[in-house]
Amino acid sequence: MSFEDLKKYQPAVVKLLDNSFKKDRLVPIYLFAGPRGTFKKDAARYLASLILCEISGACGQCNQCLKVANGTNPNLTIIKPAGEYIKKEQIIDLQNDFGLTSETKKIFIIYEADKLTSSSANSLLKFLEEMNENTYGVLITENANRILSTVKSRCQVINFAPINRLEILGDLEDRGINTEASHIIASLTYNIEEARKMTNDNMITKMIELAIDVTLSFEARDHNGILIMFTKGKFLIEETLKSYHMMFFDMLTAAQNDKIKILINQDVDLDKLVFCETLAKNRPSLKIEQEIAILELLLEFKERLTYNVNKDLLYAQLFTEIKRC
Ligand SMILES: [Zn+2]
Repeated sequence: MSFEDLKKYQPAVVKLLDNSFKKDRLVPIYLFAGPRGTFKKDAARYLASLILCEISGACGQCNQCLKVANGTNPNLTIIKPAGEYIKKEQIIDLQNDFGLTSETKKIFIIYEADKLTSSSANSLLKFLEEMNENTYGVLITENANRILSTVKSRCQVINFAPINRLEILGDLEDRGINTEASHIIASLTYNIEEARKMTNDNMITKMIELAIDVTLSFEARDHNGILIMFTKGKFLIEETLKSYHMMFFDMLTAAQNDKIKILINQDVDLDKLVFCETLAKNRPSLKIEQEIAILELLLEFKERLTYNVNKDLLYAQLFTEIKRC
């Protein structure tokens, strides 16, 4: 595994770890906190590689680094929740592995550290007190507020900033995804890995095409959105996974927001819109009040998706109401 993404998207974290390592100022225990998709696990493996490397720190080539990369390094232990929580026994096992005075450096990483129970957190605290100088640890969480303050106070907290939309956009475009699809996907997620996965999801590709046709139908006189939805969009109506429907609503909502931006400001920078190409070629033809009414309907019907509603009925009602706008 290379640390290319980590270095590109979290350069401040890498610099901090590198500097601390070079100056021999690594602390025994870190808390890596930040939202999903911010390369916290990669950073933890990077730290492991710095500490365990045989050559110059995270060289990526030596035996130790390679074993960190492929997950077989005996000096790196990763703990994940067993079911819903991290159990006390898991921490006791860790303590038994690490507790003895050790000549070799060892590091543990705890994923989803907010899932420590109070008793496993207490075991961890006890272990942290007894940790020998060759032991390091990283706790990872998406929610630092859920980490017990007694645990947190023992850690050096490193906050991972979310990756911004422009960076996701750039990443997708670098991968050869076309401009508008990149914009649409980047509007749906703040997680770069999720965004990359979406580009390979055939459902998403089809949904993007459908969203373009549907959003243009709102502007057309014949207003055949319902027809498009029940022919070209049949695949989506039959889809049982709710998240896809949510995403489809998010796409249509983004398109409405774009249209409203254009109507408010004729000189809006089209490149910054989500449906940048479609709406550059097809300017909205309705009045701003109508576009807003459609947006409101989309938000209202998206809300209904939360309940297990009949999708045929939902889309039929939605398009009938949009036609009245
Ligand atoms: Zn190495």
